[in-house]
Amino acid sequence: MSDADKPIKEGPVQRPILTPPGGEKKVLLHSCCAPCSGEVMEAMTASGIDYTIFFYNPNIHPEREYLLRKDENIRFADKHGIPFVDADYDKDNWFARARGMEWEPERGARCTMCFDMRFERTALYAHENGFPVMTSSLGISRWKDMNQINGSGKRAAGRYDGLSYWEFNWRKGGGSARMIEISKREEFYQQEYCGCVYSLRDTNQHRRNQGREPIVLGKQYYGRSTEPEKD
Ligand code: SF4
Repeated sequence: MSDADKPIKEGPVQRPILTPPGGEKKVLLHSCCAPCSGEVMEAMTASGIDYTIFFYNPNIHPEREYLLRKDENIRFADKHGIPFVDADYDKDNWFARARGMEWEPERGARCTMCFDMRFERTALYAHENGFPVMTSSLGISRWKDMNQINGSGKRAAGRYDGLSYWEFNWRKGGGSARMIEISKREEFYQQEYCGCVYSLRDTNQHRRNQGREPIVLGKQYYGRSTEPEKD
């Protein structure tokens, strides 16, 4: 029987009992933001997994947007009593690695670099702090390429003996719908672009082409907004 087939009946939501690779119970969760990690966090809590959030996202620009996303994630972690590791905002290193890839499309080489960079730091922290498994909330977004994320995760974890990347598909079994439900329930800040200045530029260009206004940082919140949701 797969994980998704084993129901648990506690709480208001029917959830599968999840088992990390190797039957481990300790996981380091790389989180990109509160909306994406909300469902992942509640799913792991429901399965009794001992996890810690690792927030390392030097790709998010400008800094005001970075702080908005991070503070929302800290607020939700505090509410659940989950440890939160606030890693460096070393955006200069991110820009150095992105050099020459400024015009790559989303899901292209720049995004592979971006996932690699974030997961390499996550894997190092996991290795140094005794986590046998790492995973990420990045793959729950339907805008992301799951294979691209899993490839980066496995490469990063593969650098250390005894560390696995958990490729669980957080979208399935109703995960995508619960992600939106939780975001509305918690009125999370709703980012309108992936994160980097290049994705902000390209999203605004797309909006201009559609006759829409450019993005205003700090404006949209789930459950309060009138515009369609973009996860
Ligand atoms: S579009 Fe998103 S994943 Fe790709 S480089 Fe920019 S922030 Fe990273």
